[in-house]
Amino acid sequence: MLTLYNSLSHKKEKFKPLAHRRSGQKVKTVRIYTCGPTVYDYAHIGNLRTYVFEDLLRRTLALDGYRVKQVMNITDVDDKIIKKALALRKPISAVTKPYTKLFFGDLEKLNIEKVEYYTPATANIKEMVALIKKLVARGFAYQGEDGSIYFDISKFKSYGKLSGLDRRELKSGARVSADEYGKDNAQDFVLWKAHKPGEPSWPSPWGAGRPGWHIECSAMSMKYLGETLDIHAGAVDLLFPHHENEIAQSEAATGKKFVRYWVHGEHLLVEGQKMSKSLHNIYTLRDLGNKGIEPLAFRYLILTSHYRSKLNFTWESARAAENALNSLREFLRHPSDNLVRAQAAYIRNYEKKFSAFLNKDLNTPEALALTWKVVRDVKLSFKTKKELVLEFDKILGLGLAAVKPLELPVKIKKLIAEREKLRTYKQFVQADGLRRQIELLGYKLEDTPGGPVVS
Ligand SMILES: [Zn+2]
Repeated sequence: MLTLYNSLSHKKEKFKPLAHRRSGQKVKTVRIYTCGPTVYDYAHIGNLRTYVFEDLLRRTLALDGYRVKQVMNITDVDDKIIKKALALRKPISAVTKPYTKLFFGDLEKLNIEKVEYYTPATANIKEMVALIKKLVARGFAYQGEDGSIYFDISKFKSYGKLSGLDRRELKSGARVSADEYGKDNAQDFVLWKAHKPGEPSWPSPWGAGRPGWHIECSAMSMKYLGETLDIHAGAVDLLFPHHENEIAQSEAATGKKFVRYWVHGEHLLVEGQKMSKSLHNIYTLRDLGNKGIEPLAFRYLILTSHYRSKLNFTWESARAAENALNSLREFLRHPSDNLVRAQAAYIRNYEKKFSAFLNKDLNTPEALALTWKVVRDVKLSFKTKKELVLEFDKILGLGLAAVKPLELPVKIKKLIAEREKLRTYKQFVQADGLRRQIELLGYKLEDTPGGPVVS
């Protein structure tokens, strides 16, 4: 059974989805919402860490036998996008289209599974307007003198419950129209921004304008997944104000619990520091590629640390991850045959442990360590090891199934077989002669507990 740390309760909880059983089907569906990218630039490795952690969550739920229904929004209208489009003197789609494409390219390179619904904000304006209308009608939102619509945080009694803000800190009546702000700015936040010259706008009962950022996630998650979600995941820096505001908007509109499990992934640091423009350390997959680090090596690096721990990215750690991944590939590239036949229960124990580690709040470092234990286990045949490693990789997602075993020429295979026979009869001198022949043909032979390995 999966245990997840719920940011709302501050403790690990047993995960149980709402029973959304379809009639006649035994499989339970888990409804997940994950905040997606703002497509105005390349995703950086901190963003990508979050998407990999969400992918691991999704794969773990599948391992546990759930059907996953996941939504990710694509923020394709916001302050940053508009600023960039204005600078280019182009429509916002000239910014968002290419970066959306690049985003999906990055996900593919990191072997992140496609989710059920990717949905752009601009395709859901109608739903956002409907939700804001509901909030206005229920007395949770009002029009400011600037014409924009704001959420009145004083009306929502449990405002701050996710981020632990003391309600006395809240400055109700004071308004914030920016989408991103800090904890000292806990004020009435904008739901609908009144039109400004040069900005794209859509019609609404309050005049032309555009949605604020927070409202899009409430509108889109409820559209696709219903009023109560099983899991909402995202990066920890979205916890306040974004997720806090999502709760306020959604619960004020429906009167129901919005999210049952809030799951947050920690930051990625670069050389021990927060990524920032001034430090020039905001890296993308392209920057990694320029230094010879492939995307899957970065995925491996992510697996080495628990999602709720800060991950310190350094070039050394990235190279170490790449070496480790290459060693796994090398292992699969060199089949060996030995006579070891482990008991089924012994093999099953590995499978159980692997699943137990992941179910323990996604403990990927232990799952990865177990994978290495399999590779090194002298009691397992190569065939069994390979089967286990590839089975584990269905969750780890390192693309190991694509590794093709090294094809040895028939001549070499024959020499190896002959040498093995001689060794069985303890004719070591003759066996050594064959080893020299193999080496003269340009191959390296190594006797391992799992049998001879030729490379
Ligand atoms: Zn969101």
